[in-house]
Amino acid sequence: MEKESSIQVLERKGLKKTKVRMALIQHFMMMNHAQSYNDLQEALSNELDKSTLYRNLTNFEKVGIIHRINDDTGVSKYAFGEPPIHGNEHAHFVCEDCETVYCVEELVPLQPNVPKGFKTKKVQTIIRGTCADC
Ligand SMILES: [Zn+2]
Ligand SMILES: [Zn+2]
Repeated sequence: MEKESSIQVLERKGLKKTKVRMALIQHFMMMNHAQSYNDLQEALSNELDKSTLYRNLTNFEKVGIIHRINDDTGVSKYAFGEPPIHGNEHAHFVCEDCETVYCVEELVPLQPNVPKGFKTKKVQTIIRGTCADC
């Protein structure tokens, strides 16, 4: 499958094509690991201010351009792509040395054996270890 451009992503999600949004999407596409708010702010400080970044992240998350990962560092990280919900499951790899978070594709979703009457909405899988750079 050919990779979508940032413009196509915005069109598909019905969002206005602004320079800032395109820059943000392009940044996410370029990075192979999840970005914290601070990472993004640092990388894109020339393109957008704090409140614009915050607004766009919230917006992107809402429409499913990016997804948020909560590892247990207390710092939310964001990665490109739909959230790992039903039919689209993937795991996250957390490096214990550098705290980088990677999306790991091709997860066979777990079918947790929840008690009768309980309904599973999503299963979040976190894999911990050391990344190739560490
Ligand atoms: Zn690492
Ligand atoms: Zn992910």
